[in-house]
This record gives sequence, C-alpha cells and structure tokens, in this order.
Amino acid sequence: MKAPHLLLGILAFTFLCCSCASQHIFKGKPTYTDSNGETYCSVHSRKLISARGYSQSSGVCILPTEKYLKWASAFPNHNTEIANEKSELYDIPIKFRYCEACRQDLAEKLAH
Ligand SMILES: [Zn+2]
Repeated sequence: MKAPHLLLGILAFTFLCCSCASQHIFKGKPTYTDSNGETYCSVHSRKLISARGYSQSSGVCILPTEKYLKWASAFPNHNTEIANEKSELYDIPIKFRYCEACRQDLAEKLAH
C-alpha cells in the first residue's frame, strides 16, 4: 500500500519542481513585428532599440550565475551579454537590438 503513496508523492514533487522552475521562463516567441515592420518585445510590447556593441571573442567562457540563468529567460530581449564598450574580452563590433524594459527588469531581479 505504500507504493501508490510513494508514486503520488514523487509525481507531486515533480509537478511542483517543474512548476517552480518554469514560472520564470518565457516560452513564446521573444519578439513580434507589426504591420510597419517594427520589432517589439513580446514580454513588454515595447519597440526594440537598435544599438552597436561588442561581443566576446571565441574561446572566452564566462559561466553565468544561477540567478542569471533563472531570470535571463524571463526577459528574452535583454541582450546583456553584449557590451556597450570595447574591451579585451568584448572586441567584436556588432549591431544588435534589445528591450530596455527587459534589461531593467533583469537588473532588478539580479539586484535582489
Ligand atoms: Zn522586454
């Protein structure tokens, strides 16, 4: 008689773990385009900002924190992995787009 209870417990635990882990993950398409061809953030419905920045050279690996991994997917247009200033690590010039609200919300979550 213990097996059904154990199975139910495992199922309940699995459901809770999956629910907690997935509540911050944005699962839809991160952007959408309006009839004028402008691209918007699907989370905030704000027009993406075009900018120039620098990406990392290949061969450089910076491990993200657990907190960053948790929240980065909730704000899919943050593009914080791109630096505004050129440096030794970030030396490849690129054009990119981002959502200011995604950046602000991610920064707020990482600050707490
Ligand atoms: Zn956004």
